[in-house]
Amino acid sequence: MRKIQMVDLKSQYDKIRKEINSALQNVIESSAFINGPEVKNFQNDLEKYLGVKNVIPCANGTDALQVSMMALGLKPGDEVIAPSFTFVATAEVIALLGLKPVLVDVDPDTFNIDPTAIKKAITPKTRAIVPVHLFGQTADMDAIMEIANKNKLFVIEDNCQAIGADFTMKDGSTKKSGTLGNVGCTSFFPSKNLGCYGDGGAIFTNDDALAQKLRMLVNHGMQTRYYHDMIGVNSRLDSIQAAILKIKLQKLDEYAAARNAAAAYYDNAFKGNPKLKTPVRFKKSTHVFHQYTLVTNGFDRSKLIEHLNEKGIPAMIYYPVPMHMQKAYLDPRYKQGDFPATEALAKSVISLPMHTELDEEQLKYITESVLEFVK
Ligand SMILES: *Cc1c(COP(=O)(O)O)cnc(C)c1O
Repeated sequence: MRKIQMVDLKSQYDKIRKEINSALQNVIESSAFINGPEVKNFQNDLEKYLGVKNVIPCANGTDALQVSMMALGLKPGDEVIAPSFTFVATAEVIALLGLKPVLVDVDPDTFNIDPTAIKKAITPKTRAIVPVHLFGQTADMDAIMEIANKNKLFVIEDNCQAIGADFTMKDGSTKKSGTLGNVGCTSFFPSKNLGCYGDGGAIFTNDDALAQKLRMLVNHGMQTRYYHDMIGVNSRLDSIQAAILKIKLQKLDEYAAARNAAAAYYDNAFKGNPKLKTPVRFKKSTHVFHQYTLVTNGFDRSKLIEHLNEKGIPAMIYYPVPMHMQKAYLDPRYKQGDFPATEALAKSVISLPMHTELDEEQLKYITESVLEFVK
C-alpha cells in the first residue's frame, strides 16, 4: 500500500509529470519569469472556467483578501463580519487594515457562516461580510446577498477552499462559488484544490471598475509604469506557477470527482455510527471536499488520532481554536460561550486524509482503522 498522507501531491504529479515538466522547461527557456504569457493565458482560462468577467492573479490567498478590502475602499474603524470558525487569514487581514473584525457563529451542520447571526451583528458601521466557503462547499449565498443588498454591504467571498463548487441560485441557475459576491478570493497554495508548486492566489469580480482598481493595487498602485495613482502592494503570480495552474485547471473537475468518490467511501463506512457525524451536504451547493471533516461525539478524539497515527494514518484538526479564542484576537467584546456552534466544532471535529489520489486499498484501511477505535 502507498503511504497514506493528508495530501499526496507527489502521486498526483507523477500522473502529469510530462506536461508539467515541459511547461516548466518552456518558462525557463523563455526566462519571462514575471508576467510571462503564461500568466495571462491562465487568467483567461480561469475566467472562462468560472464564468466571471475578471480574474486578477496575485501572490497568495491572504493577499487576495487584503487587496479586495483595499479596493472596496474600506476605512479604519469599518466593521467587517466574518465567521469565528475559519483559518486565521480571514480575520488577520481585517485587523491588519485597521478594520474591525466582527465575528459570528456558524451553522453546526455545514460549518459555514450563519445568515441569522450575520443579521444580528449588523450595526451602522458595518461595511462588508466575508463568508468563508469552508472545507469545499459554498455558504448560503442567497441569504447572504439578500442581507448585503438590503443593508448596502459588500460581500467578499473567501473561496480559498471551494474553487470549482457550484451554487444553485433561487431561479435554478448555477454559478461558481467565488463569483456570487462583489469579489471572490482564492489561494493556489499547494494543498488547495487548485494548487500550484509554491504560493499563488487570485481575485475574481464581475465589476470592471473594481477589477481595474484591483489590477493596479497588486502592482504598486500603478497602471502606467512608475506613475503611482494609489498606494498598492507587490503581489504577483509568477509565470512558473501560472504554467502549472493552467495544466491543473484542466483537471480540476476530475480532481473534484476523485475527492467526492473518496468522501462517498468514507460516508458509506461511517453511516449510522452514532459517534461519528459525516459531513452534511448543503442543498444549494456542490461539495469539492477540500477537507473531509467528521464531528465526533462521546469520545476523546485525541485518542483516535493517536490510534490512527500509530497505524501510519495522519489526521488533523481544522480548526482547534475559534478566532475569538485566539490569543492575538482576544477582545473584551467576546468571551467563551458566545459562539456555541463554533466552540463545539473546535472541540469535536477531525479531518481524515483527503486528496485526489486515495485508492480503495487506502480508504479501506483508513475506515477500518477508524472503526476499530470507534465501535
Ligand atoms: C488557505 C486559506 C487562506 C490563505 O491562503 P494563502 O494562499 O495561504 O495565503 C485564506 N482563507 C482560507 C479559508 C484558506 O483556507
